[in-house]
Amino acid sequence: MRIVVSGGAGFLGSHICEALLDRGDEVVCVDDWSTSSPDNVADLVRRGLDVVAADVSEGLDIDGHVDAVAHFASPASPPDYHRRPLATLAVGSRGTETMLRLAQQHSARFVLASTSEVYGDPLVHPQTEDYWGNVNPIGPRSVYDEAKRYAEAVTAAYARTYGTNAGILRIFNTYGPRMRAHDGRVVSSFIAQALTGAPLTCYGDGSQTRSFCYVDDLVRGVVAMLDSSVPGPINLGNPTEFTVAELAELVLQITGSESIVEYHPLPTDDPVRRRPDIRRATQALDWRPRIDLAEGLRRTIMWFAGRPAELSHAAPA
Ligand code: UDP
Repeated sequence: MRIVVSGGAGFLGSHICEALLDRGDEVVCVDDWSTSSPDNVADLVRRGLDVVAADVSEGLDIDGHVDAVAHFASPASPPDYHRRPLATLAVGSRGTETMLRLAQQHSARFVLASTSEVYGDPLVHPQTEDYWGNVNPIGPRSVYDEAKRYAEAVTAAYARTYGTNAGILRIFNTYGPRMRAHDGRVVSSFIAQALTGAPLTCYGDGSQTRSFCYVDDLVRGVVAMLDSSVPGPINLGNPTEFTVAELAELVLQITGSESIVEYHPLPTDDPVRRRPDIRRATQALDWRPRIDLAEGLRRTIMWFAGRPAELSHAAPA
């Protein structure tokens, strides 16, 4: 198969490119480098990954045939999309249309990386795919949430209008190697802080919950979705829920760090609880996560511990 992955040099995208190369696919990685890094794909380029520098919001020219398209380009960390609000809206809307057009022209499979953020601050718990969500359309998070909701709408419309073989994945919090130490997400922040002896920045009282999925598990689900013709939407995430305070404790325990936990105000519209119902993924894709949080954290901490330069790299303002 020849597969085009937008956002292919980002955290999730680079793991997807790697998994596809591992099984012998030809992979074209498209990235605008806004929140990604050439380091993520340097080894993959040596193994034949084709890298195209492009912002898919502006369009995309790809020569040759295409069997599948995975649209993973987008800022995904709250500080990133707060810094780039219009670019986030553009890649979710125009960027998704670009990638859908590409899939439709080649009669290729299309998979959209949507998000648990389409559920907003959910009133249904755990979140099932038939829940429509509780999103503030004009709040600071809306640039991401509404962009992804539009991305889902236009994907569904392409499937209805042109018969595009499209599938929607709603991805819940995922972590692992190749996250940026200072991207502002909770797992990477806590690990970087614990390893450097800095205080762990806990927002709110730490009682809000998330369900953290290790990246290898997530990627298995993405590949299964690419190989299927399942329309979704399908939740992909680890259904074991932790409070942010529990996560902080676990990171301190595994690293053996003596960092303190420091409390900061909770960001606007920060969801209180989040946990995927994954029955659909299990039924449709025979998918379930295998790596628990402690094991996934150990692997991620080992990766960060071997990269002191990444840890000391100044956090963006
Ligand atoms: N969070 C935190 N400290 C940090 C970064 C995030 O306590 O340094 C909290 C954040 O407020 C949220 C949770 O951790 O409740 C997950 O945040 P993240 O940005 O990783 O993902 P998202 O909010 O998109 O689920």
